[in-house]
This record gives sequence, C-alpha cells and structure tokens, in this order.
Amino acid sequence: MANTKKDKRLPMNNLNDIIKEFGNLDSYKTCPEFWKAVPENGLKFVESLHGATVRVIGQSAGKRDIIALEYGDKEETGATVNNLQSSLASKIANPDPTSIFPEEFYGLKRRVKPVLILQGALHGGELTGTVASLNLCNIIESGVDLRGKAWPELQSMAGQYRLLVIPWSNPDGTARAGIACSSGIPAELYSRLTMGVKKGGIPFKYPENKKQYPVPLAEVAYLGSYYNDNGYNLQYDFCETERQPETKTWMKYYLEEKPDAVVAWHCDNGSLFSMPPALLPVGFQHQVSRIAGAVRQGLCRKGYGVGRLSWAQLPGLGKDNLTQVEAIYHVCGALPLLCELPAGTDNKLFTPDEMLDISLITLEELLFFGLEDGFRPYEYRRKIINSTRE
Ligand SMILES: [Zn+2]
Repeated sequence: MANTKKDKRLPMNNLNDIIKEFGNLDSYKTCPEFWKAVPENGLKFVESLHGATVRVIGQSAGKRDIIALEYGDKEETGATVNNLQSSLASKIANPDPTSIFPEEFYGLKRRVKPVLILQGALHGGELTGTVASLNLCNIIESGVDLRGKAWPELQSMAGQYRLLVIPWSNPDGTARAGIACSSGIPAELYSRLTMGVKKGGIPFKYPENKKQYPVPLAEVAYLGSYYNDNGYNLQYDFCETERQPETKTWMKYYLEEKPDAVVAWHCDNGSLFSMPPALLPVGFQHQVSRIAGAVRQGLCRKGYGVGRLSWAQLPGLGKDNLTQVEAIYHVCGALPLLCELPAGTDNKLFTPDEMLDISLITLEELLFFGLEDGFRPYEYRRKIINSTRE
C-alpha cells in the first residue's frame, strides 16, 4: 500500500517568493470534503474502497509509490507480442488504413469489457481529473458521488468496463502542488505553483519553461508541480535515452493491460478533449474528434457550454510534435485522449461543485461512447458484440 506517512522528501520547496507575492497561502487551502485530490486526503478514501484491487505499479524519481485502482476482471486476448510497431510492419501489403490491428499485438479474442485507463495528474498539480476518478470509484461502489449525488447511468456503465484508475501518475509533482483545490485562486498563483520559481524570485512561465529540459535544479527555488523530483516534464520524457521511472511505470502497466483507451487528465480553463494528435493513424484521429464532439454536446445539453471550439480543429493544424499522449498509442495501441478539465482559477472561475459535475458528465458521455460505438476506429462495438453473441 502506498506510503501514508508525512512526506519529508520534498526538495526545492522554497515558497518564500510565492508567499511574498500572494500572501499567506493558507486562505486558499480550504477544500470541500468531496474534493479528494492529493494523497493527504485521498489515500484514506482509497483504502476505504471495497471493490477495487489497489496495486503499487511503480515508484517515482522521489521514491513515492504510484498506485492503480482496478475494477473489473482482466480478460485474456491471446496476444503474443508487445511491440505494436513491429507487428504493424510484419506484413507487406497495399496500404489499407483500416488494417491497423495486428493479431499478434491486439490478440484474436475480443474482450467483452472495454478496458479504460484514467491517468491522473501527470502534471502533479492538475488535479480535477483525480477528483473525478476517485468520485467515480465511489459511484461504482455505492451509486453516489462523494457529495451524495446519484449517478445511476454512470454506475451501470462503469460496471461494464475494466476500469483502471491511476490517481497520481507523477506523485512527486503532486507532493509539491501546494493547494489541492484551485477553484477561485488567482491564475498567476496557480501558474507559480505549477511552473515554479527560479532563485531570485523569477517565475518560470508557460510555455517558455519548455525551452529547458530538464529544469536545471540548481537554478530552482520552488520546483513547480509540473515536474518530478528530477525536474522532468513527464509529458516529453518518453524521448529520453534514460527514461524516468514514472514513464517506465506507465509503459509497462499499459502494455500489461493493452487498454482500449487511456484518458490523460490535465487541467486548463476547461478546453476538454484535445485536438486530434498529429502523429496518429487517421482512424484514431477521427475517433478523437468524434469523442470530443460527443462529450461537448453532452455538456452543452446539461448547461455546461465549457470547451473552446478551437480544440475541435482538424488534424494538421497543430505542430507535428509528439507528447506522452501519442506515445501512449505507439507503445500500447490504445486510443489516447488528452482531456483538459477546468482548474477553476479566477480567470475562468468554476466552483468545485461545477468542476465535479463537468468531469462526471464528461465521463458519462465517454463511457457511453465506449460501449456503443467503441473506442476502436473503423467499427461499431455494439454491432461486434451482438454478432459474437449469435
Ligand atoms: Zn498538463
């Protein structure tokens, strides 16, 4: 079980410059009871769950446990290899964009339950998705979220999945989050806590902070929650010759599970599902667009017109670079979905209640899509399931 003792291993944690700029941070630290965002208030809840198998799947650079909560039985697929790219290259054939599911890698046998991974807080202070995932666990076990609000459809749909929740995929960063609930806090304060501050009080700013890789620890006064204890932004770590332990952890676990889809939770003003990643097979890009549209419409119908349409642009409009999102597909063959839930800071304010509702409606639409149309491009899952029952 994960370490619940008081965390003393926190280097580069000098908050003085941030306090000088924003005053005592204690006034920002009130957090509703249902907002289980950080190990300090989340681990006890995790330990109280009866239906989940809780496993330690790896450790961070700072030697913190990375845990997964597992619901639903694991089904065998008969896959024989773990290298998607080799399997894709194993046949010489005319180009067929739909022929991208080699049996050696994906297996011959289709699973009854789709496998979905919810990956929380790769940027350790972006915690709305973690709160949503842990509330979903409560819904699975009791039908209600941690406020007592009933979600019967969500409960029923979640029961038709193998659902795997990683609440803290960068626990070093989360240990440095500073504030568990970002609702209503100044956006600049959120930026300092996530991006960090250099010695001398100079803030690291997004996106220029990405010009340095990793962040030079000798120059840092407060290493923001973006990074692990070695100063790495894990969004790009998969390209390194020596990968960080957090990256090896997700790669290994995702290959063990070969999920149908992975949701990588992040936070911004709430732009929700990202534009289709540039370097994915076109079928997967199309599927990202379809899901982004379905989720946005679901939210609009329920009174939450969050999400900026700019994300719903066509493939090719972003830069052709790779992030952990694309790496998820190229390693484990899953549909990778980056979802930016609201942080709720003062420049795009949402209350914790609204943020949880938005997140759970997002999950409801996503789970419905995965059961009906399915996450795998070029097929309709309901049709496949019905045909195998005949
Ligand atoms: Zn992020």
